[in-house]
Amino acid sequence: PEYPLVLTKFLLRARDFFPGKEIVSYGDEVVRYTYADYAQRVHRLAGALTELGVGRGDRVATFAWNHHRHLELYFAVPAVGAVLHTLNIRLSQDDIGYILDHAGDRVVFVDESLLPQIRPVLDARPAIKVVVMRDRPGDGPDGYPGYEELLARARPVTEFPPTAEEELAVLCYTSGTTGRPKGVPYTHRTLFLHTFAACLADGHAISERDTVLHVVPMFHANAWGVPFAATMVGAKQVLPGARPTPERIAELIEREGVTYTGMVPTVAADLLRHVKETGRRVSTLRALVLGGSPPSPALVRELEQVLKVPVYQGWGMTELSPMASYGRITAGEDDGAADITQGRLLPGLEWKLLDDADRELPWDGTSRGELVIRGPWAATRYYRDESPESFWNGWLRTGDIATIDPAGRLRIVDRKKDLIKSGGEWISPADLEAALLEHPEVGEAAVVGVQHPRWQERPVALVVPREGHRVDEEALRRSLADRFARWWQPDRILVVDELPRTGVGKIDKRALRRRYARILLDERPG
Ligand code: ATP
Ligand code: MG
Repeated sequence: PEYPLVLTKFLLRARDFFPGKEIVSYGDEVVRYTYADYAQRVHRLAGALTELGVGRGDRVATFAWNHHRHLELYFAVPAVGAVLHTLNIRLSQDDIGYILDHAGDRVVFVDESLLPQIRPVLDARPAIKVVVMRDRPGDGPDGYPGYEELLARARPVTEFPPTAEEELAVLCYTSGTTGRPKGVPYTHRTLFLHTFAACLADGHAISERDTVLHVVPMFHANAWGVPFAATMVGAKQVLPGARPTPERIAELIEREGVTYTGMVPTVAADLLRHVKETGRRVSTLRALVLGGSPPSPALVRELEQVLKVPVYQGWGMTELSPMASYGRITAGEDDGAADITQGRLLPGLEWKLLDDADRELPWDGTSRGELVIRGPWAATRYYRDESPESFWNGWLRTGDIATIDPAGRLRIVDRKKDLIKSGGEWISPADLEAALLEHPEVGEAAVVGVQHPRWQERPVALVVPREGHRVDEEALRRSLADRFARWWQPDRILVVDELPRTGVGKIDKRALRRRYARILLDERPG
């Protein structure tokens, strides 16, 4: 098209219409600048990238926390026709090496504080250029150029080179919850349309009146698209820097007057605990968005009561750029039970529920099947990988088991790979987890299938008590016995101190399955 949907349009619009709006970045020092400065620095960075030899289609990686330099890279790399690849800093060195090779990155922009973590991987790959990001002036250690020095030396581009909307802009890898992370390529068009649609969702619609705090790591699934959206509308943006603690998040909400933020349920639970302990008020918030994994009803209820803010939920996956459905979670009036729904599909996408034989299921709120999705920002392939098993007639298989009610609301029930098949019958770990989480003394719960000599797989439950509580195992057993058939009852309920988490804070069920793989096998009948 003559007027392509490219990401630089967001930046230039904001520069022209909101030049004085503020961006605040917390690091060793606090950087405050305007959208005019932001756009100017992106032009400079684009010049620097060209001087580094970055060309059309080249992959440029970031290994960084949420700060203004990372935000600048979000726009400058696609602006020169290159592909921004945000590396997950919590991955193992083995996975990082695998992903760097798979993506074929030419340059990596690394936070100085994260350099030791990635150093051995980079030393083994001397062809990759490294730029170090830090607040102090000067170049980085061992001759690595420093970001600010690079910018100071660069000739800014006056105009971004023309880019077609079908060109790749960003490459994100999945979290690796169920296997090796898979690369998902996004084009300018994908991200442009995703930003539009996400900005239409109730409660998510941000405007120039909002102050947005970027809590979701910018290395994870595009930071849910919020950096693009916030720039598009010219919102004030606040970046918390390295390792944002609950204290830091609460402090920034108060100090900067944050109106909108999103986070995974684990981080929200930490924030809630901090607010309860300190009596801080985070009263400027008008929307809190949860996503990434299912929140417990108790958490949603408490967040609404204590923070006095409506809680919304987004569901998506890296393959969906990442958002696909969105909605308000309502804390129930009478029994206090929150109605956990992942909301309605964003306009532009289509969905279906499929049974085991790929036959379509009705949207009656009870039929459970695998959710498949297609649309302008749904992946149709992986980067350098076909994975035909992930697609069905052009639809993306989400791997999530869900119901859709007649009003079009999604409820994610489980992950296909987590389902337990016991003696030929399916057991849903998520149903058991939800029941366990209803106990006020249970803080976290996970149910996994482990090998069984007779039934192939049987459920084992792990529960973490809430702080200051003791779990009464017998009471848990009784309540499960009241609600589920006998063959659904977990063979074991184990009380543990904590659950293993993946890089982005999801419960690592693969690790649990490995850890407890033999727990039902080594038993001697007594
Ligand atoms: P991998 O695909 O590498 O195994 P992953 O699926 O965890 O890892 P992501 O793309 O980060 O990688 O996560 C998407 C998944 O997260 C979804 O398929 C879904 O299972 C889960 N998820 C995301 N948001 C929600 C939500 N609001 N409620 C429940 N589950 C969610
Ligand atoms: Mg996945």
